[in-house]
Amino acid sequence: MSCLFCKIAEGSIPSTPVYQDELCYAFADLNPQAPVHVLIVPRQHIASLAETTAEDRPLLGHLFWAAGEIARAKGLPAGYRVVVNTGKDGGQTVDHLHLHLVGGRPFGWPPG
Ligand code: 5GP
Ligand code: ZN
Repeated sequence: MSCLFCKIAEGSIPSTPVYQDELCYAFADLNPQAPVHVLIVPRQHIASLAETTAEDRPLLGHLFWAAGEIARAKGLPAGYRVVVNTGKDGGQTVDHLHLHLVGGRPFGWPPG
């Protein structure tokens, strides 16, 4: 498997771990866009949210639960944002499903 985030999740490419369990791996983004910028990926390779099926519902719930747990552990009382860039128009650059957890500064809306 030549997927970057599969390799990071299995440990063959180094990363800074933030949280992990049997279903997901969370690590610091290499190019952080905020004081807190964590990527949460399923251990299973799924290319993007567009490729998910009904079978993936528990996993998707787990990923969002993990994002909330990490945010609570980081202590972000003013709030934070969870983003899932999907496909070309969504700005996705790595084709392995991932949640961005960003916080520690205010974010604008709508996104660019
Ligand atoms: P996307 O643009 O696909 O939503 O997000 C991909 C994210 O992966 C980007 O924020 C980028 O900085 C991050 N990223 C790309 N390559 C690496 C890497 O090798 N290690 C880590 N930790 N993050 C990476
Ligand atoms: Zn992958």
